Amino acid sequence: MSNEVTPETYYGPSFAALVDSDPQVAELLVSELDRQRAGLQLIASENQTSPAVLAALGSTLSNKYAEGYPDKRYYGGCSEVDKVEKLAIERAKALFGADHANVQPHSGASANQAVYGAFAAPGDTIMGMSLDHGGHLTHGFKVSFSGKWFNAVHYGVDPETEDIDYDQVRDLALEHRPKLIIAGGSAIPRLIDFAAFREIADEAGAVFWVDAAHFIGLVAGQAIPSPVPHADVVSFTTHKVLRGPRGGAIVCKAEHAAKVDRAVFPMMQGGPLMHGVAAKAVNFAECATPAYQEYARQVIANARSLAAGLGERDIRPITGGTDTHLSLHDLRGVGVTGADAELRCEAAGIVLNKNAIPFDPEKPNIASGIRVGTPSLTTQGMGTDDMTVVADLIHRAVTTTDGDPDHAGARAIRAEVTDLLASHPAYPHP
Ligand SMILES: *Cc1c(COP(=O)(O)O)cnc(C)c1O
Repeated sequence: MSNEVTPETYYGPSFAALVDSDPQVAELLVSELDRQRAGLQLIASENQTSPAVLAALGSTLSNKYAEGYPDKRYYGGCSEVDKVEKLAIERAKALFGADHANVQPHSGASANQAVYGAFAAPGDTIMGMSLDHGGHLTHGFKVSFSGKWFNAVHYGVDPETEDIDYDQVRDLALEHRPKLIIAGGSAIPRLIDFAAFREIADEAGAVFWVDAAHFIGLVAGQAIPSPVPHADVVSFTTHKVLRGPRGGAIVCKAEHAAKVDRAVFPMMQGGPLMHGVAAKAVNFAECATPAYQEYARQVIANARSLAAGLGERDIRPITGGTDTHLSLHDLRGVGVTGADAELRCEAAGIVLNKNAIPFDPEKPNIASGIRVGTPSLTTQGMGTDDMTVVADLIHRAVTTTDGDPDHAGARAIRAEVTDLLASHPAYPHP
């Protein structure tokens, strides 16, 4: 085998092969790329990963069975994937200053299953943030395994500040004595006070778990404080702000390492997705660079600019703004529901999601709010001035058009979206 690595040395499944063998799927991959390029991507949990990460994902590592962990596999032929997984683990530990890392979880939800598996048993009490105040399905919501198998207690936000009510967290923790206390969620615009959670968990005798799925990229980029020194265990996704492949990971204190590893495999998963593990290694190295740190700071600056721009247009940011990559907005000031706003924006080429706001009078499938995030637009090189333009486009789409893409109002906004994207394209052609 050649030691010199050039593009020609790698015999991988190239796109040309797909075009030949399955033009139908090839065409869909191209039309999805076109879709990603053609709209303003404001979904807070999405990003645009690098060509290097995509190359690792499209590799022959997908062929390899590697149940177990490096040097302790249940299959032969693992010499190369062992090196890959060790690299990913070492890079994750260095990036997050963690004692231990498990890079095998297939997704954020799989990582969370493993944390439950490591620290709790069915019937135990667990405590997390309620979904309608910004938590996640896997934090004990009733349709999820976590709500079915555990006795879930939920805290929420203070109605005045709209930020986490730490007095309520403490009261509930002391009353219910949960095995696990979870901090983190999918629609929390503000920084979380990890030290306060740690203190409450100690007082209640609970394991302190941070689900950092959304904001771990900002931690990796050193743009916000890290939960790692405070928490017993931190689970996260690798595909949100972090900008890696779709997947999950867990870091934890040394004392929990063996428990966490056994919970990922063999308790919750079978063979790891080694192409994904390789892509995680690539991503962790990318995140350790000054360029990524600059990116993480810009994501927050852009989110603040966008939140303020929408606020000035009567689309009020919950908590008054954001410290992170996302903001949550109350649409009642402009008299539009979240569901209508999502539809109208999509017609204008603006991709975002409706979202319940705390104490929302509407049903979740209607909702009074929208959630917007800046990871993708920042990857495309947009800055704070662009966010003012984006705020204006969102406001006009939400208030002046119906959900018909052929509606004159939607068409006009779409033309401006196309103009803005022309100077900041996603995946620019080389
Ligand atoms: C996205 C998310 C998850 C789930 O990640 P998946 O990869 O979609 O399974 C878990 N927890 C939180 C807080 C999230 O935001």
